[in-house]
Amino acid sequence: MKIILLGSPGAGKGTVSKLLIAHDGSAHISTGDMLRNNVKEGTPLGKKAKEYMDRGDLVPDSLIMDMMEERLQEPDCKKGFILDGFPRTIPQAEALGGLLKKLSLTIDLVVNMEIGKQVVLDRLTTRRTCSNAACQAIYNVKTMPTKVAGICDKCGSPVIQRSDETEEAILNRLATYNKQTAPLIDYYNKKGKLLTIEAVSSDGVVKAITGSLSK
Ligand code: AMP
Repeated sequence: MKIILLGSPGAGKGTVSKLLIAHDGSAHISTGDMLRNNVKEGTPLGKKAKEYMDRGDLVPDSLIMDMMEERLQEPDCKKGFILDGFPRTIPQAEALGGLLKKLSLTIDLVVNMEIGKQVVLDRLTTRRTCSNAACQAIYNVKTMPTKVAGICDKCGSPVIQRSDETEEAILNRLATYNKQTAPLIDYYNKKGKLLTIEAVSSDGVVKAITGSLSK
């Protein structure tokens, strides 16, 4: 499958992506994860991106497009890909359109995962992420705690609260989403590719997506 997941921070795009890749081996491409890895490794891109990310602002489009142009040409994308957190602006969507044309690829479906603001705040302030870049398992202190406090069940690395998951940063990320990313809903609707789903349960979202793709 070649799909784009749209949805505010905390809509569950990462969880849904992980469930979807189990279906057909498509690559999960999360620009947020890629940027966090660059920050962790202290690459030139990571150094430029960090201050934007910590504030909950978007990283400039040009940096994202350079990173994505390379990523979409890696061999694991041949089977398909799930774009999680990209595109985030109209200029990114337009640049993606040009890039896909150049690579002779087309998107099957754009999924708009809808979720309320209070649910997002509750989900994100209680979310914890494995600090191991190769793992990045997601937990929740209320609904899905680790077996041993603060330690990842899967790999034993410390589990952390992301610096952009404080209440202040989350509110800024939501405002950024409404201003810069929500216009993509209309953009892809006009192209006839949009499926809007209420993102209550990840399994429900996965069913709706696989159902729509098999039509
Ligand atoms: P995410 O994990 O997708 O919520 O992304 C975390 C942060 O990475 C965002 O708040 C942005 O600062 C940055 N980011 C991720 N994807 C993009 C993108 N496509 N364009 C610009 N910034 C991005």
